[in-house]
Amino acid sequence: MSTGPTHAMSGLTAWATVTALTPDNALGQLSTKGWLVGAVLAAGAALLPDLDHPESTVSSTFGPVSQAGSKLINTISHGVYRLTRTKRDSNRDGGHRGLTHTLFFAVLATVVTTAIIQTSRSWALPVLMFFFCGLAVRGIMHKWCPRNDALWITGTALLLTYACLKWTDQTDANAAACGLAVGIGCVAHYLGDAITEQGCPILWPVPIAWKTWYPVAPPKVFRMRTGGRVEMAFVGPLLTVVAVWMSLIALRNTGALPMLRDVPLTWWGQG
Ligand SMILES: [Zn+2]
Repeated sequence: MSTGPTHAMSGLTAWATVTALTPDNALGQLSTKGWLVGAVLAAGAALLPDLDHPESTVSSTFGPVSQAGSKLINTISHGVYRLTRTKRDSNRDGGHRGLTHTLFFAVLATVVTTAIIQTSRSWALPVLMFFFCGLAVRGIMHKWCPRNDALWITGTALLLTYACLKWTDQTDANAAACGLAVGIGCVAHYLGDAITEQGCPILWPVPIAWKTWYPVAPPKVFRMRTGGRVEMAFVGPLLTVVAVWMSLIALRNTGALPMLRDVPLTWWGQG
């Protein structure tokens, strides 16, 4: 895995890029408030797949509650891995970097999030916002925050959720856009994992080279060490620059930032 801050930033970058580069479809035509809700969801969802690892920092986000959830996810993931692996797949436990690290899971998370928000906007959106805010805060602050400081994280997530929903009109959030934001965040996580040593079984259960859990990864020279110099000095800052740039374009498309109306932010048309 990449480090928490890189994962969270990659979720935001992916959301900003998709919304900035598709101004003509529904995702590119969100309101400013809807876009911001999506940005929070995507940044948090970029940490979601690692809930399959009970020892991971993100699993301690909400203390014993998320740790218990993490153990359950790990057990399910382990079961699915052992049941569906072929002889060619590595003989590993499969609890971590299993089911939650596949496109199948990203689609599932998209559909479930959309369905939950469609069922009830009044309670579901605040609950989901709180959950993903917590993951995002935990991801960004995983270094200097004591490992068991779940109360602190919970408090910050509650405050952030309150602030977001106080400012965003709850009825404004588009359920499908929220679902897609979560899916986009998950996919950003997979890409971040794929460029580290072990690769990521994104395409399960499609068999590649007789492996259903084929670890998708670029050639070795393009891979980096988690928390290594390449990630800290290059990938992290680059993601941040792209996130800011794409967010400016996307926010301008939503009608916010009128002062940037004439600033050439793009070279491909609407700039
Ligand atoms: Zn991961």
